[in-house]
Amino acid sequence: MKKLLSIVLAVLMIFSLMTGCTSKTDAPNEPVGEDTLFKAGKYAGEAQGFGGTIKVEVEVSDSEILKINVLEHKESAGISDPAFNKIPSQIIENQSVAVDTISGCTFSSKGLIDAVKAALISAGATEEEISKAVEKKAASTEVIKKEADVVIIGSGGAGMSAAVEAIDAGASVIVIDKQSSVGGNTLLAGSALNAADPERQKEQTMSEAELKTIEKILAVEPVNDAMKVWHDTLEKELDEYKASGATYLFDSPSFHKLQTYIDGDFVAETEKVDILGDNAPEAIKFLEGLGAKWIDQIQAAVGATWKRSHTPTTDLGTKGASFVLPQANYATENGAEIMLDSKAEELIMTDGRCTGVKGTTTEGQPFEITAKKGVIIATGGFGANVEMRQKYNKHWAVLDESVDTTNGPFATGDGIIMADAVGANLVGMEWIQLIPTYGPGVFTPYIENQFYINKEGNRFVHEDGRRDELSKAVLEQTDAQLYIISDANTIKDGMTTTGTNVDERIGNGYVWKADTIEELAKMINVPVENLQASVDEFNNSLRTGNDPFGRTVFDKEFGTAPFYAGLTYPMVHHTMGGIQVTTKCEVLDTEGNVIPGLFAAGEVTGGIHGANRLGGNAIADVVVFGRIAGQNAVK
Ligand code: ADP
Repeated sequence: MKKLLSIVLAVLMIFSLMTGCTSKTDAPNEPVGEDTLFKAGKYAGEAQGFGGTIKVEVEVSDSEILKINVLEHKESAGISDPAFNKIPSQIIENQSVAVDTISGCTFSSKGLIDAVKAALISAGATEEEISKAVEKKAASTEVIKKEADVVIIGSGGAGMSAAVEAIDAGASVIVIDKQSSVGGNTLLAGSALNAADPERQKEQTMSEAELKTIEKILAVEPVNDAMKVWHDTLEKELDEYKASGATYLFDSPSFHKLQTYIDGDFVAETEKVDILGDNAPEAIKFLEGLGAKWIDQIQAAVGATWKRSHTPTTDLGTKGASFVLPQANYATENGAEIMLDSKAEELIMTDGRCTGVKGTTTEGQPFEITAKKGVIIATGGFGANVEMRQKYNKHWAVLDESVDTTNGPFATGDGIIMADAVGANLVGMEWIQLIPTYGPGVFTPYIENQFYINKEGNRFVHEDGRRDELSKAVLEQTDAQLYIISDANTIKDGMTTTGTNVDERIGNGYVWKADTIEELAKMINVPVENLQASVDEFNNSLRTGNDPFGRTVFDKEFGTAPFYAGLTYPMVHHTMGGIQVTTKCEVLDTEGNVIPGLFAAGEVTGGIHGANRLGGNAIADVVVFGRIAGQNAVK
């Protein structure tokens, strides 16, 4: 059952290794004889990876590296798999640690290589002896030729959702990805999925302050017919809710659409917003049908502005893995081929129709794939392409290389460039989202039980606001940084409610933990009285519904030790602009005509979110529109 099952098995194997295996060496570190390289035996070695220490055991004869076992690591499942799957065999094959790191998991690769190196040095070899240059085999120049009904470029959430639908519609499918593993940013993401979900939301209550949020949205004057329909529907739904005497957390697709549109500054395409709001609940069921599971509580992701974010469990490693791996498994089990390490470079056009894709494998071999029915571009955004960021940016002072990104290095806008080259229209390219809450100092993507302070210890923004507002507010603070402050309502026994181990990050320079507010303030060097005033303000706002910054999303009273602080800053996260498509995900050219045979879905497209994307709407977008692209490419 091909590559994907082996990915899942590798993930599970790695987890079983993580649960309690210790390394055992049976050879002493004695001097090695003159004509031998090692003292035969098994040696332990360890080094730092991305997520923590990687421990290996290496078995050697007196002249050869025989076996490499990974005993323990904390790298992200899915993302780091290519390193663990490829590097040990490459080291053994070449009898050298001078093998290449793997793109997309460079830190894990380096940690693994260094751990093996350390073991080999304890076996008596010198670094020079085990680092002989690895001969690169010249790639074949023969063009790999393949054919399928539907060819999908990109194996993130959009690409895999498209693959599942195309397979279900009876098509043959090839998915290509330039990375060594599936998943793209969807695998790396916080993975909140926004959808109105009466069943789960009924389990939660709604506060007075939250009711005000709905009323505030209803007070916004409709600017067009579509918005008027959403507005009037929401008004009616809310009246019914109030008349019923209900106290549960209200939600509906109309409310979701209005928030998406208003918080996107009215520049999204209303037909797309309609599709997103109506189909997001079904996306939840679609993913559940493939094996995805959610934690029970519905939360508000940063920038979601309402508690409708569904959080996947971490059963398969990362949260994103729980979307993508079941989809990828389903697709491959049902006949799809996933070609990894294969970068698409050019769309093949025949008499105005897109009939395939050309590209090159990581090893340098050219490929050409013919698409009998359609090509779907699902290559994600351009957040990691500094040149494109600077070319299109109109709203941020700087977006050069000094601004980090939360994206994987593969988010270089390739699909936009390829589509542009065949005449596709690009829309909303200037809208680039920065998020202030990402990276090692962030515990959870959810906000209800946390607040933010600046370096002076003061709150400065309503934490439940839009990501662009939050980022702008942070950029005005000292050092353009913020501390996220949490207590036991977010982190219990060192773990967040969404399964992140925070305690193992203490000491990384971004995370602090204390038993009292006073101690925490000292640790992060902010005035105690200011931090205490911020805590009091949070609790007062929760009780009264009158927050000086206008925050309305709360959950529990703050103040149960232990307390945590996490340091973070704005980074480029999402690119709202991209290829313009019809509601069927057909790519439009600059004259407004459909380019036959060419489809696009996910972050590579524009027009769905407008000027600002709600937190939790990206996963809804990629699944909803990925499915539509898959269905229509087959038609
Ligand atoms: P989305 O959220 O829209 O699904 P993701 O970022 O999750 O987007 O996934 C996009 C995927 O597309 C990534 O796995 C990335 O490696 C892949 N990709 C990007 N450019 C290319 C390309 N030129 N050829 C093949 N795959 C690509």
